[in-house]
Amino acid sequence: MDHEQVRLAVAGLLDALELDMPPEERELTSKRVADLWAELLSGVGEEPAALLRGGFSGGHQDLVALREIPFFSMCEHHLLPFFGKVSIAYLPGPSGQIAGASNLARVVSLVSRRLQIQERLTSEIAEAVMEGVSAAGVLVVAEGEHLCMTMKDHTDVGSKLLTTSVVGALRDDPDLRREAMSLLRRAEQEYMG
Ligand code: ZN
Repeated sequence: MDHEQVRLAVAGLLDALELDMPPEERELTSKRVADLWAELLSGVGEEPAALLRGGFSGGHQDLVALREIPFFSMCEHHLLPFFGKVSIAYLPGPSGQIAGASNLARVVSLVSRRLQIQERLTSEIAEAVMEGVSAAGVLVVAEGEHLCMTMKDHTDVGSKLLTTSVVGALRDDPDLRREAMSLLRRAEQEYMG
């Protein structure tokens, strides 16, 4: 990211909005925004699968799931936040390699720190897990609230966009997919109950 260009562009945006902002405030705000955006987009150009390589070789052959990982991302259509939770289920590959739970959460965080649409965020997480632990299959479910939608007219407050991405054996085998879905759902019911 070209920090100076972003700062100038934000200053230009403030000018164009004709807000009558004092020049000192305009300078401070444009610098703050550029600093913050550098952090919010720090996942650009990073390789999420790399966070999972060299994980545990547990020899595990059954489904593993981690649910309700929080995420915060920026919508590429409106440059406003969307946020919610991601649940991941995967079937280890022949090597039985598994991912550390905190590393899965780091994958979610890294992929979120880009300009995103929720559909792509979901599939990038699935691909990263597939590649990072050489999984046989992955199912990712994301649930997000989009401020570009809820702030605009307040009629959609609380409504959530649900997206899924299914790859490998979980896509090919309906029984396995159902098992993974019910694993996530059962966990959700226990949580709700
Ligand atoms: Zn949007």
